[in-house]
Amino acid sequence: MGKATGFIEYSRKKSHDRPPGERIKDFNLFHLTLDEEERRNQGARCMDCGIPFCQSATGCPIDNLIPEWNDLIYRGMWKEALDRLHKTNNFPEFTGLTCPAPCEGACCLGIIDPAVTIKDNEYAIVNRGFEEGWIQPTPPPTRTGKTVAIIGSGPAGLAASDQLNKVGHKVTVYERADRIGGLLTYGIPNMKLDKRIVQRRLDLMADEGVEFVTNANIGVDIDIDTLRQEFDAIVLACGATHPRDLPVPGRELEGIHFAVKFLHQNTKSLLDSNFEDGQFISAKDKHVIVIGGGDTGNDCLGTSMRHGCKSLTNFEILPEPPVERAPNNPWPEYPRIYRVDYGHEEAAHVFGRDPREFCIVTKEFVGDGNGRVKVAHTARIEWEKDDAGRFQMKEIPGSEEEWPADLVFLAMGFLGPEETLVKQFGLETDERSNMKAEYGRFATSVDGIFAAGDCRRGQSLVVWAIAEGRGAARAVDEYLMGSSDLPIPGVSLSDMSGT
Ligand SMILES: Cc1cc2nc3c(=O)[nH]c(=O)nc-3n(C[C@H](O)[C@H](O)[C@H](O)COP(=O)(O)OP(=O)(O)OC[C@H]3O[C@@H](n4cnc5c(N)ncnc54)[C@H](O)[C@@H]3O)c2cc1C
Ligand code: SF4
Repeated sequence: MGKATGFIEYSRKKSHDRPPGERIKDFNLFHLTLDEEERRNQGARCMDCGIPFCQSATGCPIDNLIPEWNDLIYRGMWKEALDRLHKTNNFPEFTGLTCPAPCEGACCLGIIDPAVTIKDNEYAIVNRGFEEGWIQPTPPPTRTGKTVAIIGSGPAGLAASDQLNKVGHKVTVYERADRIGGLLTYGIPNMKLDKRIVQRRLDLMADEGVEFVTNANIGVDIDIDTLRQEFDAIVLACGATHPRDLPVPGRELEGIHFAVKFLHQNTKSLLDSNFEDGQFISAKDKHVIVIGGGDTGNDCLGTSMRHGCKSLTNFEILPEPPVERAPNNPWPEYPRIYRVDYGHEEAAHVFGRDPREFCIVTKEFVGDGNGRVKVAHTARIEWEKDDAGRFQMKEIPGSEEEWPADLVFLAMGFLGPEETLVKQFGLETDERSNMKAEYGRFATSVDGIFAAGDCRRGQSLVVWAIAEGRGAARAVDEYLMGSSDLPIPGVSLSDMSGT
C-alpha cells in the first residue's frame, strides 16, 4: 500500500469533462484527464483492503488487480501499473471511458467516503502507456497451426480474438458492418469513445496477426458450412441486436426509429465524411422524444443535442431513483441511484431542465396527415405491489398528456440475438432467447461452436463482453489443445446477471 493516510488526506477528484456548452458543438471526446500529481493522489486514496471488494462478486467482472495498480500509480510506477492492467483487461482504454464502474460501487472506501476513482485511474494508466509508446505489437513467437473464426467484432469478439491470437492460433474476425468494433464503433458515440481510440487498438491487433474481414454477414454472404470446413473452432460474438419495439397505434409513422439506427448512421456519416454526405437522421430544429433511459437513451440525448434539436424529452417507465442508496440496495451492490449522465447535463444546460420524465408510458403516436409523426400521447403510471409482492404498473386516470414529437427514438433495450445464426447452426437457446452456453465453458449445444458476450448473456456491458470473450478464448484453447493457460475471468463468481 502506497500511502496509509491517503484516503484521509485526499478527497475524491474525478477527471473533468469539457463544459456542456462547449462540448455540444462537436463530436470530439469530452473526457479530460487530471495532471500527474492529482492522479497520483487519487491512487493514494486506495486503502489496499484486506478483502478488496472492488474485485469481488459485485465489483469488477474481469478481476482487475485494482489495489495493485492504484498503489503503483501513487508511486509513479506507470509502466508496472500498465503491465498489471493488461494482465486482466485487453482493452482498458474502452472500459476506462465507458464502464459504469461496478468496482466503484463495491469499493470499501465508499462506505464512509466517496469511492476511489478506479475507472479514471484505469484510463490514466493506459493513456500513459500509449503516450509513452509502451504499447507495441507483440505477435506470438510461434503458431499452433489451429484456426478460429470469430463472428462479430464487438468487445466480446475482439477480446476472444486477442487472447486466441496471443497463444498462437490463427484468428479471423468476421463483421457484417463496414467497420470493426461492434457497439464500440457503431453504438457508443464518438464523444464518449473516440473511434481513433478504437482504431488504435485494432491496428495493434492486426499487426499482431489478427485478420479482420468486414462487410461479411455470416449466414447471408458467407454460409456457415464453408466456415465450419475452414476453421477448427468458431466463436459466436454477434451481440444482442434484436431491439425491443413499442407496438402502439401510430408506430408505423415516419420519424420513429430504433435508437441504434440513429446512432449507427450518425457515427458512420461522421467517420465517412464529417456529415457532408447527409446520410444520417438529423435532429436539427426537431422536437425529439427519446423513449427509454440507460446508456442508449442517454447517447441519443447527447447526439440530438449536438445536432441542435428544438426540444428534448426522455420518457422513462420506471420511477425516479433515490439520490442515495435505498435500504434494499446496500453496499457493495451496484448503487441504483439518480445519476446525471452527459446527455442529461447537456440538455439541462441548454433547455434549463433535466430531460427525464419518470413513470410515464407512451399510448399512441399521431401523425401530421402526411405520414410523419407529430405528437406522442402519454399517461402517467404508479408502481404497486400485488398480493405476490410483484410490482405492477397502474395508470393514473386523467394523467394523459400530449408532447410535440418530430422524431422519436426507441431505446428500450434488446431481446437477444437475431435468429439467423441460431437457426443455421441449430443452437439451443435459453428462456430469454439467448444462445445457450454455460458461463465458464462457453460451449454451445453444437460441437466446436462457442458463444460469448451479449448473444450469450443478453444485453450487458463492455466489461462483461470482454470478460466473456476472454473466457471463451480459454474454452476454445482447451478444446483445440487439450489444456490451456488462459484465464477465465470471474468464474468463481458464477454467472452474475443484471450488471
Ligand atoms: C447505444 C449503446 C450504448 C452503450 N453504451 C455502453 C457504455 O457506455 N458502457 C458499457 O459498458 N456498455 C454500453 N453498452 C453495452 C455494450 O456496448 C454491449 O454490452 C457490448 O458492446 C456487447 O459486446 P458484444 O461483443 O457481445 O456485441 P456487440 O458489440 O453488439 O457486437 C456484435 C457484432 O456482431 C456483428 N454481427 C452480428 N451478426 C453477425 C453476422 N451474422 N455476421 C457478422 N457479424 C455479425 C454485429 O454487426 C456487431 O458488430 C451500450 C450499448 C448500446 C446499444
Ligand atoms: S475496495 Fe476500494 S479502497 Fe479497497 S482495495 Fe479496492 S479500490 Fe482500494
